[in-house]
Amino acid sequence: MQAFFVAINPNLSYKLCMKVMKFGGTSMATAQSIKAVANIIKKTEECVIVVSAPGKRFDGDEKITDLLYDCYKTYLELGRCDVRFKEVIRRFEELSLALGVNSLGPLLTDIKNEINGGKSIGYVVSRGEFLIAKLLAEYAGVEFVDAIGLIKFDGSGKIDYETTRSRVNKRLRGLGVCIVPGFYGVLPNGIIRTFSRGGSDITGSLIAASLDAEVYENWTDVDGIYFANPLLSKSNKIISKLSYEEMRLLSLMGAYVLHHDSIAPAVQASIPVKIKNTFNPCSDGSVISNIGANETVCGIAIKENLCLWEYGDSEFIRDYLASRQFVMPLPSGQRQFVITEMANAEEIDEIISTKSGVSAKKISVITAVGENIKKSACLVTKRILDCVSDLEFLVYDGALGLYVGVNPDNAVELYQKICASLEFN
Ligand code: ADP
Ligand code: ASP
Ligand code: MG
Repeated sequence: MQAFFVAINPNLSYKLCMKVMKFGGTSMATAQSIKAVANIIKKTEECVIVVSAPGKRFDGDEKITDLLYDCYKTYLELGRCDVRFKEVIRRFEELSLALGVNSLGPLLTDIKNEINGGKSIGYVVSRGEFLIAKLLAEYAGVEFVDAIGLIKFDGSGKIDYETTRSRVNKRLRGLGVCIVPGFYGVLPNGIIRTFSRGGSDITGSLIAASLDAEVYENWTDVDGIYFANPLLSKSNKIISKLSYEEMRLLSLMGAYVLHHDSIAPAVQASIPVKIKNTFNPCSDGSVISNIGANETVCGIAIKENLCLWEYGDSEFIRDYLASRQFVMPLPSGQRQFVITEMANAEEIDEIISTKSGVSAKKISVITAVGENIKKSACLVTKRILDCVSDLEFLVYDGALGLYVGVNPDNAVELYQKICASLEFN
């Protein structure tokens, strides 16, 4: 009988079967939703599960991360966080009781003591992810791996990709299923640093890229990427596939369903990102990859609370604006136009009154996104202009974004009109 020898490259076999699943705060908010998560992960084998802190359970509820920011503030003001931390304890005790988890009690006491002992803000606000990962690990009977040993920042606060990749591979390969808290990592001096809000998406993407995972599944509370923000528009059209660039621009301009900084690691490693619904796991979801959407406009985002600055050649204002978050330059002639996150209103008033030639106003930006816009930019522009008469600006970036600046007072109404007009393009 003839013998067959099959050479198996261990890295290749892991690459073929490993995946990363990230469950957002919407999926971790209640005992019932955590049971749904556990049911999903039960069906996986080689898989890293990244989790966010519990989010809101109902309208008007508080996210655990918001509570923790408040605990830090309370500690700074009163020297103790206890009044606010009580609510954090109550939420985790409720979940533990409903799920039969026993290990959180001593951790909650330790954390309260650490906050009252003056721990850093990064430590404090990352505890929601830490605790919920501990809880899920015990409930699902799988290993907990702290993000401190995996996600590394350099001295300037930027991600240290090389070290992160190497730690993730050493610690997570071959582990089967494990749970990792999202949102934070560690600086070279050992201090915890968090990403910006919604940043567990970035943790998931970094781990997926480090492991050359087969897929990065991002589990949330919607069936996929909608053409428009489902909270503001009646549209229920799901974009089944879109390109990395389309997704990056949509999220940068307001579709916060996936953090825009989670795109780059996935692009680098060519990992498809799937948006899936924890509460409807059978739905196909949306796939983000190199393959763009078929539609001319694949989605429309809205970003509010922005500030439109107009200024001449003032060096001060240029430096000041460069230090603000979300700077979007607009094409200009002699004047300079820039959009930033809304600065403090008093700060703006002071700048305008002391620096000549500077004006600023509150603005909202509606962005139509699609790689195919370039084929019919004029038509899309015309459709938008038919909806909006008093716009502040309309800029096409020559590629996949058409930006419309509008007065914040009627921004949502205009957004709905534009969405309705462009949905079936
Ligand atoms: P998670 O807690 O899972 O990270 P997020 O609240 O951060 O969830 O993101 C999911 C939410 O994003 C949805 O509930 C939805 O309201 C909102 N969202 C905004 N724009 C879009 C869009 N274009 N498509 C889908 N969801 C969107
Ligand atoms: N819990 C963090 C936040 O509320 C991170 C996340 O949800 O991804 O921003
Ligand atoms: Mg999110």
